[in-house]
Parts: sequence; structure tokens; C-alpha cells
Amino acid sequence: MAQPETSPTPKTEEAEPKERIAHPFRSLSELVDYVSGKALPTAGPQEAGLAEPVPFPFLAIVGQREMKLALLLGLVNPAVGGILLIGPRGTAKTTAVRSLLDLLPKVERSLCYYGCLPEDIDAGGIDAVCPDCAQKYAEGLPLAAADRVRLVELPLNSRLEDVVGGIDDRAVAAHERARLRRGILAQADRNLLYIDEINLLADEIVDAILDAAAQGSYTVRRGPVSATYRARFVLIGSMNPEEGRLRPQIMDRFGLRVIVRGLEDADGRLEAYRRVQAYLANPRNLSAAYSVEIQAAAQEIQSARLRLSRVSLSKKTAQPAIKLVQSLGIDSLRAEITWFEAARAYAAADGRTKVSAGDLQAVAPMALRLRRSQFMTEYFANQGKEEEELETLLTKL
Ligand SMILES: [Zn+2]
Repeated sequence: MAQPETSPTPKTEEAEPKERIAHPFRSLSELVDYVSGKALPTAGPQEAGLAEPVPFPFLAIVGQREMKLALLLGLVNPAVGGILLIGPRGTAKTTAVRSLLDLLPKVERSLCYYGCLPEDIDAGGIDAVCPDCAQKYAEGLPLAAADRVRLVELPLNSRLEDVVGGIDDRAVAAHERARLRRGILAQADRNLLYIDEINLLADEIVDAILDAAAQGSYTVRRGPVSATYRARFVLIGSMNPEEGRLRPQIMDRFGLRVIVRGLEDADGRLEAYRRVQAYLANPRNLSAAYSVEIQAAAQEIQSARLRLSRVSLSKKTAQPAIKLVQSLGIDSLRAEITWFEAARAYAAADGRTKVSAGDLQAVAPMALRLRRSQFMTEYFANQGKEEEELETLLTKL
């Protein structure tokens, strides 16, 4: 299939067979740069008929280095505490999130409705799991199996009932007994939860999601029935600031914040256009053109996840970073938690087990931007005045 296309400026390189084995990259961050610069093979003939939806390949997204890096760090280390993508429409935010499908790592997933895991027994004894799982454990049966992380999208019109779960009407009708139905948050356990236009979501829903994300579980009570579900997920939100602001307390709960802008250079825009055209003409061909890199990246992510627990941050490296956070006037402790966890993920993705100052530098902007609060600065200044006043009055007492 080496027929030249009718496109005005055909690339010289045709889709080559699977022979490229050596990768000119060492780490995920290098991979991201390498693939962005890769010349796209010209599109093959258009496929007839309807194909299954194939996501746009993550590694085919042109530019947007920081967005790609933030998403990859979230896959390596869920403790980065969520990722917020901020930018206008048409900057590939949703495309980038959906394209993670090809890269998602594997996790141990519970085989039980309540999400019991063997590690719960290790941590809290046999009572930490449901009776069925306790029985299984006693019989030596597995409680979990390896499964791919999934991408769960929260529809914008979701009601609180859909999100946290509620009374299962069908169970009531069939058994004359109230039972709870799992909500989207319980389904998101050990997965990615994506919320597009998070700034347009009702406050009560955002609060429920953030509380569950912070605690890793949540409890639903409906009359006499209640249930606790696990909800350990990586939250990814995206928003267009033109359509409304995000409450500052919500903004603070996102670990990494990425400002996504349109591509600036003309060549990049042209390449992005070509890739979108190639995708629309034949999604499978475009995906195949990146299959080697996608596979390599997925393996890198998996091994970085395994390495992560051994990655440490020394006091000597951490102290100047904490000083920097303080000198920026950031009060939220989440700033350094996120910053350090992102740096650990970055080091792990680079095949190292010690966080360097360079790792901290590489991820600092996404961990630290939009953390300063004008309101709190003014609030503390005013409060300081009141304290002084009180003290002067008290001395006169
Ligand atoms: Zn169970």
C-alpha cells in the first residue's frame, strides 16, 4: 500500500512494516517529546463501512507537552491528587483524556460487589471484608483479579443519585426489600474518573466527588439502608474558563493544573490538522502507525508504577522546595504533597529511585500554579489588624 496520496504535500515516508524496534527515547518524558515530533505516514485508503470507535492515539497529539505529561504522571502515581485541564474549546483536552485508553495500566480489581481486596485483610484482618469474601479467603479462593484501569466519564446531566447511588427500584419491586444501587463513584474505584466542564456541575455533586476522592470511600444512607463503597480514583477534570469559574476550594483540591492553549507554531498546527484528517479518514491506520510507541509507553507506565514505591525524596532535596512554596505565599499543604508526589512519579518514569532537584523543577509549574489565594492574603491581613486592636484594648482592661 505505497500509493502516493492526492494531498498537496505528500510525505516521503510511507507506512512502514513493524521493523522499528529500537526506541530513540529513554523515559516517558522523552517519549512524549519524540512522538510529538514524529512525521506522520500518509493516510492509507479510506475504509468502507462503519468501524468500532478507536480513540485518537494519545501519542499522536501534537505539542501540549505539559498536558500529556500531567496525564501520564497521574497514571504512574494516583497520589498526585487529580488533574485539572484548563483551556478554551478545541485544544484537545477531551481527546487527550479519552486517548489514554491505549495506555491504561493494570490493577488488582476486586471480584466482589463491595470491592473487597486481599490487602484489606492484610491491613484490617478478616472483618475488613464482607462475609462472602471472608468465606472465599478461608477457602483459599482469589478475591481479586488483574484488570485494566478503565476510563469512567461522568455525564454532565448526572444527578446526585446517579453519582453516589440510591435505592434500587427494581430490587424493591422484585423483592419488596430496599437495596442500594452502585453509583458512578463506586464504579470509578481504581479507575480514572473524567468530568468534562467540571465548572458547570452542581455544587453538591462536585462536593460528593471530591469528598469521596479525598477519603477513598464514601457512605450512602437512604432511610434504613446504608452502604459504604470504595472510590479510589484519579480525578481528571476539564474546564473552559470562558464558561464560568471554578470555586477556589474546588480548584485547590486538584493536584496538577494544566493551562492548555492552542498550538502556537504554524507547522505544529498543520501537523495537528494532518493527524486529525488521517484519524477521520481511517482511525485504525493512524492507531497502527503509533502501535510500537503506544506499546512501549504502556510498558513504561506499568514498570514506573511498580518502581514508584521505591522512589524516595531526601530531606535535603525537599527543604528548599518547601521554602519556595512558603515564599510564594501558598498556604495549602496540598501544594507540596502534590509537587512531591508528581516528582516521585517523574523520577519513577525516568527509571530512577531518588527524586532530584531536576524532577522537582520539571513538575513544579503544574503543581504550584493557581494556588495563591488573593482572598486569603487579604483575609489574613485584615485579621492581623483585628488581633492588634484586640490586644491594645485588652491591655487597657
Ligand atoms: Zn466482598
